[in-house]
Amino acid sequence: MRGPERLVLLGHPVEHSLSPRMQRAALKSAGIALDYEAIDIDPLAFDSLIGRLRELNAGGNVTIPYKERMRIACDEVTPIADLVGAVNTFWFDERRRLIGDNTDVGGFKAAVRDVMGSDPSELTVGVVGAGGAAAAVLAAIESWDRCIAHVYNRTPERARILCERFRSVANPVDDIGAVAGAQLVVNATSVGLRDDAFPLDPSMIAPGAVVVDLVYRPGETAWVKAARTRGHRSRDGIAMLVEQGALAFERWFGVTADRAAMWEAIPKS
Ligand code: NAP
Repeated sequence: MRGPERLVLLGHPVEHSLSPRMQRAALKSAGIALDYEAIDIDPLAFDSLIGRLRELNAGGNVTIPYKERMRIACDEVTPIADLVGAVNTFWFDERRRLIGDNTDVGGFKAAVRDVMGSDPSELTVGVVGAGGAAAAVLAAIESWDRCIAHVYNRTPERARILCERFRSVANPVDDIGAVAGAQLVVNATSVGLRDDAFPLDPSMIAPGAVVVDLVYRPGETAWVKAARTRGHRSRDGIAMLVEQGALAFERWFGVTADRAAMWEAIPKS
């Protein structure tokens, strides 16, 4: 079987990441005798670590705050990683060239399929946030049939710059009400990660709208629970997390990831 000889997660911080549990479950199920190790790296050590990973023929994932930096470090990136401007999955090819991909887009699309039953078509999406995760969301929206996005961000200038990159589908809005009025409402900020704060008041969300939170916490986020209480079909970030991890596994090893085992490995409360 082809694939990396070491697997790592690069980020800062990384200690709360669920990826090691999830990837170890997939490795075990596939009978691959490798570990998946989370490495908390100092920004100053990033470039020298890449050199070391090249020597070791390592592959892995990248999380906050290194996804954009990894894209620059790569010798080649896939079209989707180029579009998003960020790499969350990497490996070395047979010539030891560093290859980068972005599986967050596929992860988000799977989460939406999970809650809506199929890829959306002719839909207005409201997005809160304008960071790397929001870029992955807009790349997904661009791939859907005749869908558009309204993007609201705490720092409006960042939303304007992001929407410029996705101008065929996205427009920045100053009024969060335009996001709340969409048929699919997405939280792509980090609000709700550490507490029960809401990125957007659930009472503003249009009746019948579907709600997807990229953030996940044990027992779901408060925002997802509040939206469901109000009758909205809702998903937190776990579905996206599992699928982006499964797609990464498949890039590394060329075999199907055991998604059920990956789900099972995630603490639910
Ligand atoms: P990022 O590039 O740092 O962007 C963070 C975003 O959150 C920005 O839009 C920022 O607004 C906004 N924000 C942060 N604190 C805020 C606050 N107190 N009030 C309002 N807005 C606030 O991060 P990212 O990579 O886009 O990730 C965003 C979230 O998505 C993270 O929580 C991450 O865990 C989650 N995520 C989940 C998955 C998954 O698989 N489920 C994958 C990727 C990311 P400003 O521009 O104004 O600072």
